[in-house]
Parts: sequence; C-alpha cells; structure tokens
Amino acid sequence: MMRQIVIAGGSNAGLSAARELRRAGFDGRVVLLDADAQSPYRRPEVSKGLLSGKLDEGRVAIEWPGNLEVERLMGHRLVRLDLGRRQVEAIRADGGDVQVPFDGLVIATGARARPVPFGPRLPGVHTLRSVEDARGLRKDLREARRVVIVGGGFIGLEVAAVAAELGQDVTVVEKDKVPLGSVLGASFGAYVTALHRSHGVRIVTGGSVAGLVPGPSGRVAGVRLVGGEPLAADVVLVAIGSLPGVDWLIDSGLDVTDGVRCDRTCAVAGADGVVAAGDVAAWWNPLYSRLMRVEHWTNAVEQGAYAARRLLGLHDPAGFVSAPYFWSDQYGARLQSIGSSLGHDAALTLESDGPKLVVAYARAGRLLSVAGIHASAAVMGHRSQVLSRISIEDLECAV
Ligand SMILES: Cc1cc2nc3c(=O)[nH]c(=O)nc-3n(C[C@H](O)[C@H](O)[C@H](O)COP(=O)(O)OP(=O)(O)OC[C@H]3O[C@@H](n4cnc5c(N)ncnc54)[C@H](O)[C@@H]3O)c2cc1C
Repeated sequence: MMRQIVIAGGSNAGLSAARELRRAGFDGRVVLLDADAQSPYRRPEVSKGLLSGKLDEGRVAIEWPGNLEVERLMGHRLVRLDLGRRQVEAIRADGGDVQVPFDGLVIATGARARPVPFGPRLPGVHTLRSVEDARGLRKDLREARRVVIVGGGFIGLEVAAVAAELGQDVTVVEKDKVPLGSVLGASFGAYVTALHRSHGVRIVTGGSVAGLVPGPSGRVAGVRLVGGEPLAADVVLVAIGSLPGVDWLIDSGLDVTDGVRCDRTCAVAGADGVVAAGDVAAWWNPLYSRLMRVEHWTNAVEQGAYAARRLLGLHDPAGFVSAPYFWSDQYGARLQSIGSSLGHDAALTLESDGPKLVVAYARAGRLLSVAGIHASAAVMGHRSQVLSRISIEDLECAV
C-alpha cells in the first residue's frame, strides 16, 4: 500500500511527478527533497536569458504550485538510499541528518556538469549548470575581453552566442571536425559553424586541450592546446557534457553505470516501488529499442509524469515511448530536433532555403529524428513520422 511517496530532486522531473501524483488522485503523503534551495527554475535559461541578462532570476524561477500538498525539504542533500530500510538519507544545510521513509520513491536528481579535468580549477574557469553558476559566469563575462569555451555542444555554443553579443572576443575549441557533428551530422555542423563565424566567433575544430595557463595573479590567462598555439583567455567555460546525479546512490546496490538503470516503464531495475525520470534515468525506450538517457527539458516533464503513474500502477504498459524534443537558441535563431539521431547512418537534407535548414536522420533506412533551424513548423510536423519510424523512401515521397 502506497501511503508515503518520496521525490528525490525537486526540479523539472520532480515537479512533474508531484503534479501527476495528485492529478492521478494519490492522496497520501508526498515528501520532496532537493539540495538546491532555489529549485525549480527554467534551467534552459541558465545559458540563455539569465546569462545574457535579458531575464533576471525572478523571471526564471518556477513558482511551486500551492495546491499540491507536498512537503518540500529544500537545502537537503541526499547522501544515501537504503533499500533494506526503504528510506532516503539526507544532510540539511545546518549539517543535521534526516531520514525519510518511503513506500514509493521517484528518483529525479538530474545531472551535473562534467568537472574541469585540467588540474586545479583556477579563478576565471567555469562550468555551467545552475543559476548560481550563471551568476558567477555572468559577472566574469562582464569584465572579460577574451573568452575561450572548451566544448562545442549546445551549452558551449549558446554561451558563445551570448558572449559574442556582449562584444567579447570568443573562441570555441571543439574536439570533433565540426561542432554538433557527432549529434547532428556534418551539414548541420557546418551550418552552425558558419552562423557563429558570421558573428565573429572563432571555432577551432579537432582541438584538444592540454591544460590551462595561470596568469601572475593565479587567475586563468589562457588555454594550452595539444600541438597548437596557446589561446589567451580572461574567462574559460568548460562545457564538456554532464554526469548523471547518482553520487548518493553509489552504495544502494542499484545499477547506476550511466544513470539509474530502468526498464521500459521507468521502474528501477532491482527495486520494487522505485522509479526514475529526467536526466538521471537510463530507460529502455521502446521507440528505439535501446537504453537511453536523455538530457532535454520536455523529456524530463513527460517522463516525470509517466514515472508517477508507474508508481501508482496507472501507466501505459507499453512503456515510456519517447521521441525526445529539444531546442537551442543562438543569435535569435531557434534550432529544434524531434527524436534521437544517435547512431544515424544517413542524414538527408529535406529543406535548405536561405537561413532555413531541415535535416532527417535515419538508420538502416528508417527515420530516427528530424532537426531544423528557423523551421519550427517543419520539425514539429515530422513528429508523427518519427514516432512511427517510417522508412526513408516513404518520407521522401511525403515531403
Ligand atoms: C545550461 C543548460 C541549458 C539547457 N538548455 C536546454 C534547452 O535549451 N532545451 C532543452 O530541451 N533542454 C535544455 N537543458 C536540459 C534541461 O534543463 C534538463 O533536461 C532538465 O533540467 C532536466 O530536469 P531534471 O529534473 O531531470 O534534472 P535537473 O534539472 O538537473 O534537476 C535535478 C534536481 O535534483 C537536485 N539534486 C541533484 N542531486 C541531489 C542530491 N544528491 N540531493 C538532493 N538534491 C539533488 C538538484 O539540485 C536539482 O534541483 C539545459 C540544461 C542546462 C544545464
């Protein structure tokens, strides 16, 4: 009998799970714990409006719905899951221990930025995940002239766009042949490279960072490249991906190799009454017949809701079938994608008209995903085709 449900992590997936529990009629106790006193907020704005200063922290905050009747223990860092006793253990901001028992548990502890791997972290070197990180980076950006961004993924490129618009001298160092190439292929990568270059951003491809150069004051003064000239920098952002928030689960006995391992219904493998959702969850996505961990806003909302229903036994037994959607904003251009291009063996340009670009990705002749820039309606218009994984021939006939 489910009388008490604990939600671990009170951001996007956690809030969505809480809403769904109540919407589905669960009238027992719900306790939510989060290390961050500020959660939830619109995390995508951390590298966009908040960093540029177009939005202040108040505009980025998500107001917690007053009618959910959730006991929120904010500033509580989870340190352990004891499956034998069926309780989570946390440390309060004042250092005190807290144990919270559960009948059902939603794991929604998201992800954290991959730490800087180049020796001790010098002042002026940043990673970006939270409002607090954005505050620090924004302060340094205001005083900087030369910005080096290590990593040409979405977050690195969004920050490059913000810094370029602030008038900084910006260099992005990307280890692949083109930024986003491993995700969206060569033509999309070339388009994004040209977009950034047209705004004065230097893109160094095939670049590998050997280390950071400290200045006389101890602040960062540059980035050393393997076999290349050092790049001078007043500020460095290291945006090389993220790690799932599983530190507190390490000795729980759960498989947390790359996120919390779940079945197709978001039920955590090896634990009754435990589900996971959002950036932390590695679940078997029936749409692609493989294990996936997705770090996108909409996926976290939808999966949080599905996981809550799973806990109550009200879920669709077919599983959490997801064609993950994401967007990225750079220089006022919106890039969008529906589905997962991972492992694609063909990229087919569907439209290339002025600034508009639409590309379809396929594997073994079947559609995986569609991505576009300046092409909202076109991308979203392909959603049902992605969900039905139509053949590339049928797609070509349809466009
Ligand atoms: C800079 C940035 C820009 C992004 N931009 C986009 C975008 O444009 N489009 C898009 O689709 N997606 C974007 N994303 C991804 C999107 O924000 C995430 O997919 C989404 O926030 C995931 O929600 P979540 O609830 O799973 O995890 P999170 O938002 O990471 O939340 C996890 C919560 O768990 C808490 N927590 C973690 N560990 C513990 C612990 N041990 N104890 C207690 N609490 C803990 C954290 O404090 C946090 O509140 C962006 C992400 C970042 C970082």
